[in-house]
Amino acid sequence: MLSKLTIVVPAFNEEAVLPDSIKTLLEVENRIIDLQNIDPASNLLIVDDGSKDETWNIIQREHQLNARVDGLKFSRNFGHQNALIAGLTEAAKVADVIITIDADLQDDPNSMVEMVAKYLNGIDIVYGVRNNRETDTWFKRTSAGIFYKTLNLLGVKLVQNHADFRLMSQRAVLTLLKYQERNLFIRGIIPLIGFNTDKVFYKRTPRMAGESKYPLKKMLAFAWDGLTSFSIAPVRAILLLGCFASFLGIIALVYSTVTKLLGLTVHGWSSLMISIWILGGFQMISLGVIGEYIGKLTTEVKQRPRFTIEKKLG
Ligand code: UDP
Ligand code: MG
Repeated sequence: MLSKLTIVVPAFNEEAVLPDSIKTLLEVENRIIDLQNIDPASNLLIVDDGSKDETWNIIQREHQLNARVDGLKFSRNFGHQNALIAGLTEAAKVADVIITIDADLQDDPNSMVEMVAKYLNGIDIVYGVRNNRETDTWFKRTSAGIFYKTLNLLGVKLVQNHADFRLMSQRAVLTLLKYQERNLFIRGIIPLIGFNTDKVFYKRTPRMAGESKYPLKKMLAFAWDGLTSFSIAPVRAILLLGCFASFLGIIALVYSTVTKLLGLTVHGWSSLMISIWILGGFQMISLGVIGEYIGKLTTEVKQRPRFTIEKKLG
């Protein structure tokens, strides 16, 4: 039995690159089919994440030209992670093995050949790992570095320099889909799935055309989700901070009692003001962080759909 491969591609306003991407991805997929034990009916599944440009028309046109190009259209923009989940959900219904890759082909599509070879040798998850970051801006490099170090310190295991370019077997995808959280940070979940994993290394290139669809605001929101969905360390830190503040309070109490008993002058109100401000600050930080977790709980408890599919092709 030949394994069927589906390549899932999230696309948000990608008219500038999509025609070329589809062409390249089909070429690589054909090469994989020729080289390895892969079903010739293997396909592409492009997920249009509520684009406002020609993206959906391009998908429709390509589908008419080649029945191996399938499409999903969201009713609005639900974000990269949800587009991936939708694509994986659909693909896992028919495909034995699925690869996710960004539409801008910054991740080397040729690595997919190696990924599939590993899959055929019994690996369930193959991470695409870039061995360079010089194509990113200084800001993106530094902020990403700090983010990954922080998560690591907090005990969240992430594969370094891996984004969402990966191969997954059908059973690995079905396991991923059991993680029903709304605040999605897929690359944090994958290491929790288990199974045999491996890596392929590649050089990340600049975007072929168009602009990044991850402006600073989206990137920060994504990082914040990653942090607070995978770690309760910030809440623990507050507990420690509270203990420390109380300990200081006890010392201050003893000190003022002793000085008073010894008949020394009562200290001025400045120390009082300082402690009020510091404690007030601690309390506000605590409330903020606790609020963040309650907010997360609220969105999870609602169990809202993670995406809405408006149209399907193929
Ligand atoms: N993307 C998406 N929905 C969004 C933002 C991005 O589906 O709301 C897709 C985008 O079309 C691309 C991938 O996610 O295929 C990664 O985005 P991009 O390349 O702009 O991110 P960067 O490489 O700059 O981090
Ligand atoms: Mg990109």
